[in-house]
Amino acid sequence: MIEKNKIDYNKLQRGIYVREKRDVGGSVITMFDIRMKLPNREPAMSQQALHTIEHLGLAFLRNHAEWGNRVIYWGPMGCCTGNHLLLEGDLESRDIAELMRETFGHIAEYEGDIPHATASECANYMLHNLAMAKWESRKYLVEVLNELKEENMSYPLREVEEYGL
Ligand SMILES: [Zn+2]
Repeated sequence: MIEKNKIDYNKLQRGIYVREKRDVGGSVITMFDIRMKLPNREPAMSQQALHTIEHLGLAFLRNHAEWGNRVIYWGPMGCCTGNHLLLEGDLESRDIAELMRETFGHIAEYEGDIPHATASECANYMLHNLAMAKWESRKYLVEVLNELKEENMSYPLREVEEYGL
């Protein structure tokens, strides 16, 4: 059996990618890969910055007038190179480009307390860094989201041969 459609992380760029689509009870859920760092080719984000991006991103997305009630999940990747976003609907990268510009623009400009980041609301409330969350968000906005190209929206694939039964 020859399997294709495997992501080549050696060639993956920063960007917005459709990771998966699932039909759940007759409605489609699209899972996006919001990739902020080149895998293994530059330093990943700090856990602190990514945790703050999780809090600020989720608060912004859930309160968004147009998209808020379609947001199912927003959260960090364990590899600290990006985030996953699950939205209701059969969507492509371009459909959410403006939403991501708004989201990361909001984080880049944010002033004040990080939402839901007290000890009673967050399981690791000291693991935050607002200054670095803003810096990482501005870098992603300016260098990637404002200059989106095809290579930032379609996965590079490697061909894998697997011999099975
Ligand atoms: Zn938290």
